[in-house]
Amino acid sequence: MLERMCILIIDMLNDFVTGSLKCERAQRIIPNLRRLVEAARKFSVPIIYCNDAHYPVDFEVVNRWGVHALKGSEGAEVIPELKPTEKDFIVEKRVYSSFYETGLDPLLRSLYNGEGVKTVVLCGLHTNICVRHTAADAFFRGYRIVVAKDGVEAFTQEDHEQGLRYLEYVYNAKLMSVDEIIEEMEKMKR
Ligand code: ZN
Repeated sequence: MLERMCILIIDMLNDFVTGSLKCERAQRIIPNLRRLVEAARKFSVPIIYCNDAHYPVDFEVVNRWGVHALKGSEGAEVIPELKPTEKDFIVEKRVYSSFYETGLDPLLRSLYNGEGVKTVVLCGLHTNICVRHTAADAFFRGYRIVVAKDGVEAFTQEDHEQGLRYLEYVYNAKLMSVDEIIEEMEKMKR
């Protein structure tokens, strides 16, 4: 069911979790995402970190959120609990979507011996912002979308729940728990 999947970890960066754009609710998903990345590494499922890496002049910084996740700063580093390994991939982005003007799409197409990824599993922050815009671009490109419902979060419960409903309704995203996703990885290896 989750054929040729990859895990996208979106914006689990110091500034988003503990820094200038701190989201208290992000703490709730950290243990789940740790379990998920450990399982993905065990079952050789590719992990791609999609990270904001802003210039101070970026429109998103100037017109909306203020300074956050500046390229090369500590705030733009993945949180220590989810630190990437040398086998993981890192894509730097400058707007909400992980696809927009980044190398994510060609990377996805090159994985699985060039057969390409079929299903993207979306995780991270925020359900209704970067996860949603990344889902939009994944949908436009024909990827199947799974959202780890206990692996994404937003500033409020309302934002989170509305975000999930929107992803399910508009992009036909399948909402699965981290444990269900890990079970699928185990099944595929049997
Ligand atoms: Zn940003």
